[in-house]
Amino acid sequence: MLVVDGISKTFGRTRAVDGISVSIPRGQFVGVIGRSGAGKSTLLRMINRLAEPTEGRITWDGQDVTALQGPALRDWRRRCAMIFQQFNLAGRLDVLTNVLTGRLAHTPGWRAMLRVWSREDRAIAVAALDHLDIAALAPERAENLSGGQQQRVAICRALLQEPEIILADEPVASLDPRNARIVMDALQRINRHHGLTVLCNLHALDLARLYCDRLIGMAGGRLVFDDVPAALTDAA
Ligand code: ADP
Ligand code: ADP
Repeated sequence: MLVVDGISKTFGRTRAVDGISVSIPRGQFVGVIGRSGAGKSTLLRMINRLAEPTEGRITWDGQDVTALQGPALRDWRRRCAMIFQQFNLAGRLDVLTNVLTGRLAHTPGWRAMLRVWSREDRAIAVAALDHLDIAALAPERAENLSGGQQQRVAICRALLQEPEIILADEPVASLDPRNARIVMDALQRINRHHGLTVLCNLHALDLARLYCDRLIGMAGGRLVFDDVPAALTDAA
């Protein structure tokens, strides 16, 4: 269970996130919806400590993750993997190598420094790619792939961290509708297959309705909606 308890974040005079409290059970696929500037990205970034909250606390299975430092913080970041709108792949490197970098946290000493991957890690990477129907792309340069393919590579890279939570910040905002569906299908597949908790910022309400178990709506940094997608009528 992820518990966000009275979290706020101010940037100067802007209250980007303003007193959000919400509990998310393990395995839930949660869509965070709201207009640009609502605070969705800041909320996600505070969960994996890319941003520090001004107030409040976040716990995962009772552990206060807002207080973690050093190795414990690095381990927390491994356990909650981020997916970004712009994929953030190393464009000139091949797909398999991009996916394997997700394995760094599990790779000891000189192997990590020299990027020498074990046979087992390669097999895990290929299996992840195969699960998302892109195993054939393993030797391709990442920059030569379509957006939908790149985002699936990023999802595979995230999976190799062996995370418990996936934090996806507008993962389909730069994709055409067909690729957006393919990527949402991939997130749904890993949510179901690995039982991962998924928090996904979305501004496309049709996708939010289609894929999420639960929708959290934000406006002006505040929580304005928390319900099943069916409760979101066209008038809302
Ligand atoms: P969303 O993801 O819903 O578009 P954000 O969390 O990105 O919203 O932004 C919420 C508010 O916080 C916006 O007003 C934005 O301009 C502001 N904000 C976000 N990040 C920063 C930052 N690093 N510095 C200053 N203001 C920021
Ligand atoms: P249980 O009721 O067995 O504890 P969950 O808490 O995971 O199971 O919730 C089951 C389903 O109920 C979720 O998949 C989601 O669709 C919905 N749900 C759970 N919590 C909320 C909530 N606060 N608001 C809206 N829907 C919720």
